[in-house]
Amino acid sequence: MHARQISRRSSRDARDRRAAWPGGRLPAGEAPVMSAEPRLTGRVVLPGDPGYDDAREVYNARFSRRPSAIVFCQDAQDVANAVRWATARDAEIRARSGRHCYEGFSVVDAGLVIDVSDLRSVRVDRERGVAVVGAGADLITVYDALGQVGVTLPAGSCPTVGIAGLTLGGGFGLLSRALGLTCDSLLAVEMVTADGEVIRADEREHQDLLWACQGGGGGNFGVVTSFTFKTHPVSEVSIFRISWPWGELPSVLEAWQAFAPITDERLTCILKLTAMSSGEISCVGQMLGTGEDLNRTIQPLLSMRAAAPVNVSIETMPHLNAVGQLGGIGGDPDRWTVHQHQAQASFKNASAYAYERFGAEAIAALTAELSRAPSARCLVQLDAYGGAVGRIAPDATAFPHRHAMWSLQYQAYWTAAAEEKENVAWVERARRAMLPHTRGAYINYIDAELEDWLTAYYGANLARLSAIKAMYDPREVFRFPRSIPRSLPEAAGASGSSGAPDTPNIV
Ligand SMILES: Cc1cc2nc3c(=O)[nH]c(=O)nc-3n(C[C@H](O)[C@H](O)[C@H](O)COP(=O)(O)OP(=O)(O)OC[C@H]3O[C@@H](n4cnc5c(N)ncnc54)[C@H](O)[C@@H]3O)c2cc1C
Repeated sequence: MHARQISRRSSRDARDRRAAWPGGRLPAGEAPVMSAEPRLTGRVVLPGDPGYDDAREVYNARFSRRPSAIVFCQDAQDVANAVRWATARDAEIRARSGRHCYEGFSVVDAGLVIDVSDLRSVRVDRERGVAVVGAGADLITVYDALGQVGVTLPAGSCPTVGIAGLTLGGGFGLLSRALGLTCDSLLAVEMVTADGEVIRADEREHQDLLWACQGGGGGNFGVVTSFTFKTHPVSEVSIFRISWPWGELPSVLEAWQAFAPITDERLTCILKLTAMSSGEISCVGQMLGTGEDLNRTIQPLLSMRAAAPVNVSIETMPHLNAVGQLGGIGGDPDRWTVHQHQAQASFKNASAYAYERFGAEAIAALTAELSRAPSARCLVQLDAYGGAVGRIAPDATAFPHRHAMWSLQYQAYWTAAAEEKENVAWVERARRAMLPHTRGAYINYIDAELEDWLTAYYGANLARLSAIKAMYDPREVFRFPRSIPRSLPEAAGASGSSGAPDTPNIV
């Protein structure tokens, strides 16, 4: 167990929510929703309770949904009771961990939110190289606990993303080219099924379900209560940031795409192509190596004749410090203050994959869209794949985009409601402009606007995922606007072949 308690602040403290029902349990007969068996157990928050607005809040301030009840489960039995309680009433269910779903799908109007965020313990066995992580742990809790004993997981950068949503959809981060996606380190899950049974899926039992949990997406097959991961030893890492004037975008993108997906796989980097009005573009990355290694490796970005950087920083530090620095909470773990699931802004994101390098036409299209973005808070982020991500076969886990060279994430952030329309429209326009040059999409960058989403997210793995859905959740107890159906619509086809080619493009 980790020693340090991370200092966290949320808009309302957890104890306030418990106070609504002393002892954390809703007494039988106190509310109409409790009148019939099976019982809803755990810390229950209902409309009208003092903590209700905090309990229903999600990270994307764009969404404000009003569930009939939110149950903060204290153990797997509470989760099982909640599933049985909801199915007995035919109530809609949403599982929730870190609340970071881009479209707010982990909360539902008039349904039951099964929240696992109180299941956040992390038990690390350094000798066996495994960690058992509660499904409600946020990433910073996981990194911190593992970091105390010199190990880590390849996971995302944002400290408050939940381990559940991230892992179930794949999980990309700045160690991914070295160590793979988060789901590639997944050994087992404990899950509550649609029947309210608690089962374990690992290499011996329910292997299909484990496969589906490695990239098949959250909210589809059951409610995960814990994950068992293999861990990876880590000590010091080196990180860098380079920025260039915005006008250098075509040259920088040309150089980056020829470098980032094929360079030394100890290095993972991200290119942030911000809107023209921001004035600059940047690249950040992390390497399992020394500052000298890193400096040598990124020379193709530093020594472009056509584009001189305006700023370059290279630092070497313990991995945990880099986690804080890259996650925007500072490089000193003793001073971390994490604002849990606090709504940051309203935003719209969409995604796609590049399976081959962009030609002049694609670069011109991207440049044109960024030059007419509605604000400086619009960007297209490119995450470099290849390395350990690409060494796994597209059908070895549910995550199909193994041979993509990079993902694209079209992002827009705004504050006033009046800005929503033009920002959402820009994300959609930019994504569409790049469609001739991209394919597929990433389930964790979930997008309510995307058509043909089943094949875009799952490619050739769709048919198997749908069969697993039919086996574990034949009544589609776990359903939401982007959930996997138990049978496929005609258009999706049995092969789902239009999402992700299974031949590598990276040599
Ligand atoms: C600021 C920010 C940064 C991000 N950075 C990265 C990144 O670096 N890399 C990356 O790959 N992704 C990243 N993402 C995307 C992120 O992986 C997804 O949004 C992910 O689904 C969030 O998981 P969550 O548990 O926080 O969210 P939730 O909203 O709680 O859940 C997301 C989905 O998973 C389901 N779910 C939640 N808990 C469970 C459970 N216990 N069992 C079954 N299903 C469950 C929900 O029903 C929902 O469908 C980022 C997102 C944000 C907002």
